[in-house]
Amino acid sequence: MDTKTTITSLQHFIGGAWVDAEDGATFEDLNPLDDRLYTLAAKGSSADMRKAVGAAKEAFPGYKKTLPKERELWLLRVAEIMEQRKDELINCLVDEIGSPFQKAMFEFDKGLTMIRAAAGICRNVRGETIPSDAPGKFSMSIREPLGVVAVITPFNVPLIKTTRLVANALAVGNTVVHLPSEMAPHLTVLFAEIVAEAGFPPGAYNVVTGFGHEIGDDLTGHKDVDFVTFTGSSVVGQHINEICAKNKTPNTLELGGKSPTVILADADLNEVVPLAARSIYMFAGQACIGSSRFYVERPLYDEFVERFSMVATKIGMGDLRDPKTVIAPIISERQRKRVADHIQDAVAKGANIVAGGNWEGNRCQATLLTDVTEEMTVCKSETFGPVSSIYPIDSYEEGLEKANDSEYGLSSAIFTKDINKAFHFAQNIGAGMCHINGPTIHDEAHVPFGGNGESGVGREGTDADMEAMTELKWVTVQL
Ligand code: NAD
Repeated sequence: MDTKTTITSLQHFIGGAWVDAEDGATFEDLNPLDDRLYTLAAKGSSADMRKAVGAAKEAFPGYKKTLPKERELWLLRVAEIMEQRKDELINCLVDEIGSPFQKAMFEFDKGLTMIRAAAGICRNVRGETIPSDAPGKFSMSIREPLGVVAVITPFNVPLIKTTRLVANALAVGNTVVHLPSEMAPHLTVLFAEIVAEAGFPPGAYNVVTGFGHEIGDDLTGHKDVDFVTFTGSSVVGQHINEICAKNKTPNTLELGGKSPTVILADADLNEVVPLAARSIYMFAGQACIGSSRFYVERPLYDEFVERFSMVATKIGMGDLRDPKTVIAPIISERQRKRVADHIQDAVAKGANIVAGGNWEGNRCQATLLTDVTEEMTVCKSETFGPVSSIYPIDSYEEGLEKANDSEYGLSSAIFTKDINKAFHFAQNIGAGMCHINGPTIHDEAHVPFGGNGESGVGREGTDADMEAMTELKWVTVQL
């Protein structure tokens, strides 16, 4: 099997071979820092997608029979090669999507953990024995892979999402067709090179690069796709959910967020303020679990606003390769407009900018708003930029009520020394994840990661994916 794509234009990886788009089309992948050309990539068409699904389908019967120890070894080799190619992956995260060095390092380390954790589930694809009411009948369930898994990933954490979802699907015996974000094709192509070098059989992992709005339906609506795992915006997630419902294709959807942080009067601001900054400014707020709402009990409100604003104003916005830099460029013109519109709309309707609000090139300063009201777009909609709002609350109960006043339900956090209130919050917040005395941004390979409502359907992580990407079969033996 070839292990490398060509340099001039990235190619698709289908059936173990690097191939151009069938019609030869390419598209431009830009560096978001200054919109200069980063690379060209094959622009997938319906025909390319059909070819990739065909390759994954053809590979499945053989791949399904591979031994746990083989899949475990291939995955561990992926981790080894990732370490050898660390600099390339880091450079790609910096130049292709504008990750500051510290975010790229964080993502690389998480990605490695995702692969190693996936290697651990290969031996854990288990059914159980079941007592039978029929005399002499031995009854059991066996767990089987589903077949072809479609993996669709977003631009913001392409390595974390790719390593987790592709590795978990392959670990339990599925073959994969991956459609990466059109803003991060190179990262995925590097990953495909690593998978190929690690020894996975041809067709086990296939990548088609291109535009989701053009070829996504050819993947999610394909009759030979047995499972869809999608991470991206709620609008696209809704569309995919409808397609999957029509075909009865099981799926998980990891979508947008408007995650709240509640800070009670007994919290220690020395601890809270740096974590609050991390919660929203990492990768310039382009994080689904970023905290875009802070509810602060009134005795701490003024001091929190003052101290948080001071930190926001000083947040690193220098060279992306400087380890102190936090603020990244906003990924695209469309997203920049969205962030700018949210700030302008809020100010026009009476919000107060207490930090940031201006742009330096394609980067928006770390921005904090107060006096935000319901009629402002920023109050309820996902901004996906370095923008957060701070609201005063008069009690814990008001904090919980306001935190729950959202169509989204992804991550959440509460800072307090009162364990009863903290646990009450964890049990009553309508989010998929809750962190007590920790930031909304937290993820691990083996946890049930995901959200409710507009934030998605289902959970991902080693255990959750193992269950979602396999099916139980009931088998009996009459003795
Ligand atoms: P997006 O929805 O624009 O794109 C995500 C992916 O969907 C891309 O690969 C795109 O090509 C593809 N796509 C577009 N139309 C499609 C279609 N019709 N069929 C199939 N695929 C299609 O999202 P984005 O801008 O890349 O990412 C940002 C969004 O992702 C934010 O809303 C963020 O909150 C969310 N996100 C969620 C999580 C999570 O775990 N919940 C993690 C990261 C990002």
